[in-house]
Amino acid sequence: MTAQILDGKETSKKLLDAVAEELSTLQVVNRPKLAAVLVGENPASEIYVARKMKIAEQIGLDSELHRFPETVSQHELVEHLELLNNDTLVNAILVQLPLPKAIHSETILETVSPQKDVDGFHPMNLGKLLLGIEPPALPCTPAGIIQLLDAYKIPIEGKRAAVVGRSNIVGKPITLMLTHRNATVTLCHSLTQNLDEIVLSADIVVAAAGQPGLIRAEAIKPGAVVIDVGINRLPTGKLVGDVDFESVKERAGYITPVPGGVGPMTIAMLMMNTVRLFKNQQGQSLHGLLFV
Ligand code: NAD
Repeated sequence: MTAQILDGKETSKKLLDAVAEELSTLQVVNRPKLAAVLVGENPASEIYVARKMKIAEQIGLDSELHRFPETVSQHELVEHLELLNNDTLVNAILVQLPLPKAIHSETILETVSPQKDVDGFHPMNLGKLLLGIEPPALPCTPAGIIQLLDAYKIPIEGKRAAVVGRSNIVGKPITLMLTHRNATVTLCHSLTQNLDEIVLSADIVVAAAGQPGLIRAEAIKPGAVVIDVGINRLPTGKLVGDVDFESVKERAGYITPVPGGVGPMTIAMLMMNTVRLFKNQQGQSLHGLLFV
């Protein structure tokens, strides 16, 4: 069997086209605006932010980039975020991670208004996700995974899922989202024993560990859905995920490529979240992905 590719590039394009279409019909003086905060000159962060800004402009969102040097003080950053929180023309705020070590990231993420928290990382919004209350925005990568599964009409309810990696931005929130969609989820991490055994029992595997080749074909249940979140640069310069794509695709039912799988879905969700926050700030009711 060769797995069907879950094409994040194509799916995200459709979602972005729909957002662009919606934006083109909006009868407003000021378009929804995304403000991105970038600290330092981390080359990967530079690329990610530039891509986000470019797509925002392409689909008709307003966007602005707020750059700070590596040496910026925490106080200065907090003050700037408070300005953005109070700026009625800014609807969504993104803080590009990672922040320099001298900055306490949790404090920064807590400073962003939960109503403008486009990444869904504010403790209040993650708390809502835990409680099963629709937050203004859901974390983009896990929300993008759910969108991709839905786009391919892959059932989640009643399925067994294994999530590998327990970060606050991917592993934990996707565990909660799959749970809210009535999957039975095992959350694995670097100290999990018998990882292969757990993964082998899963109908849906989400790999988000940042370890190339971690998920091998022997650990995949035939026909399983394999979502590869990992982005790893090999010494050869090649970009790969956490899944051994070539062997796993011969055993899985569905698989995401890297690049072209989860990455583009993440960016599409960021744009959708911006519009969602804008609408929420205009008093429109929220409905979304959590319990679809
Ligand atoms: P992280 O880097 O903060 O943490 C890694 C997690 O993986 C930890 O919970 C750790 O316990 C677990 N882990 C590490 N080695 C393991 C092993 N051998 N077995 C089992 N678990 C192991 O996690 P993150 O920030 O979620 O990033 C994970 C990967 O996903 C990275 O490659 C990152 O670049 C990528 N990522 C991609 C996107 C996207 O849009 N495609 C978004 C976010 C992160």
